[in-house]
Amino acid sequence: MLCGIYGTSNLKERYSLTPATRVNESLYQQLFFGFMSRRYLLAATSWKTVQQIPYGVAILPWGATEAHGYHLPYSTDNVQVEYIATEAARRAYEQGAYVVVLPCVPFGVQTGQRDIQLCINMNPSTQAAVLQDVAESLDVQGIHKLLILNGHGGNDFRQIIRELQPKTRVLLCTANWYQLADRTEYFTEPGDHADELETSVMMYIAPALVRPLEEAGEGNTKRHRIRAMREGKVWMPRPWRIVSHDTGVGSPHAASPEKGKAFVEAVVSYLAQFLVEFAAADAANLYE
Ligand SMILES: [Zn+2]
Repeated sequence: MLCGIYGTSNLKERYSLTPATRVNESLYQQLFFGFMSRRYLLAATSWKTVQQIPYGVAILPWGATEAHGYHLPYSTDNVQVEYIATEAARRAYEQGAYVVVLPCVPFGVQTGQRDIQLCINMNPSTQAAVLQDVAESLDVQGIHKLLILNGHGGNDFRQIIRELQPKTRVLLCTANWYQLADRTEYFTEPGDHADELETSVMMYIAPALVRPLEEAGEGNTKRHRIRAMREGKVWMPRPWRIVSHDTGVGSPHAASPEKGKAFVEAVVSYLAQFLVEFAAADAANLYE
């Protein structure tokens, strides 16, 4: 299972009555459940294979469990970050980089959404403890490079890495997948949650999980009364239920699978190139 979303055995059974939403139409499902022994995806690889591969880079997808408007599922951040990580890892592996995607951590920081049903919060201090344990496991096993690929705006691993890096031999780095390409080249509507970007990406990689756009909210948000806050120069976390009526931030109505495909392709190719360079890099000689 991936992030507890699906079991593989009953997928056909579960979806056979609803051909319009057959799972085999989803790129996400194909990537995870298509076939065994994709060596870049730990969830689909056995120990016999793992023992033979000199893995040098692990990728830890980190998402969230939270409401995404009226039209996207609570799994949205996990589905997206797992897909991006795995597709980029596949391309990097095919170029000779020994990378492996670890299971996704499905809980993010949701302290501003505690009053929204079934948003599940994992505090930054808990995330730091989880990350330390993952890094320690990799360290003793000789895998000394780790990318934390983030898929949720409330997560920020930079300060955690600043604290953890001096205590581990594992070279740590992080990226937000949705910032690996310039969104303004692909999307017209501003936003950052259940918006045009996220909706387009989900329409492309997991259309069976997207409700019809007619059911989607508008993603309207309230303005902060203080100018510096509106201008983004002073920051505070947003109380989600006050700021957004439907939990979305940004209109999803201009979304399309074609836009999602173009953005995903830009992100994945950028990330795959990074993974190839990161795998080849000498950790003791990173600067020139
Ligand atoms: Zn999201």
